Amino acid sequence: MANEQILLAMKELSNGTRQIVDASNQVSTSAGAMRQLAETFQEFMNKFELERPAVNTMSNTRILDCRFCQGRNKIPLDSIFQSLHTAKCGRCHENLFLDETKPLLNLASKMYEHPSDTLTLESIKKIPGIDTILKTLLKESYERANRLYHKANTVAVTPRQLPCIYQCFLDAAFRLDLKPAPDLFVVQSPLPNSYTSGVEQPFVWSLLGCWSY
Ligand SMILES: [Zn+2]
Repeated sequence: MANEQILLAMKELSNGTRQIVDASNQVSTSAGAMRQLAETFQEFMNKFELERPAVNTMSNTRILDCRFCQGRNKIPLDSIFQSLHTAKCGRCHENLFLDETKPLLNLASKMYEHPSDTLTLESIKKIPGIDTILKTLLKESYERANRLYHKANTVAVTPRQLPCIYQCFLDAAFRLDLKPAPDLFVVQSPLPNSYTSGVEQPFVWSLLGCWSY
């Protein structure tokens, strides 16, 4: 999806959400409000569907470049997940996919960033010196206070506290080639939500709704 289309879809999502919240706030208990809420939601969904870029549903293949010989391989999406360990490059016959026990070395952050985050970061980086200024400011002020807040108000996941989550987190950090693994703090909640914070000592904050333990 092109960046413009993503931004457009996000704008519509934001507008639609606001309209739904507005509608539900107006007369939240009346049937009229519920109907208005449903209509607004449907209107938003229709609009979103219309503006969603056309997807070629007939195509069930993707092209994957071999990391050894850069040969182009056509991957059948409907069956590839049953043969990840045996799929070979057609040219050099090396494995196309990494073993799931191996770390994803040199993983570029753009591979997992939200496209809007990437756009925002690129815009910020255009300001001369902003990188150093922000890092210094965050390190000397917000980072320390934020870490102290989490230490005092959340549960630190360690080998002795929630060891199942700790091991799972270490496995994920290893897979993402994060050395050392950041600290993990959790809070009891059924909702799934997480964020990361920090410059010198980044940590992950997570609600337990993200975890099965
Ligand atoms: Zn190859």
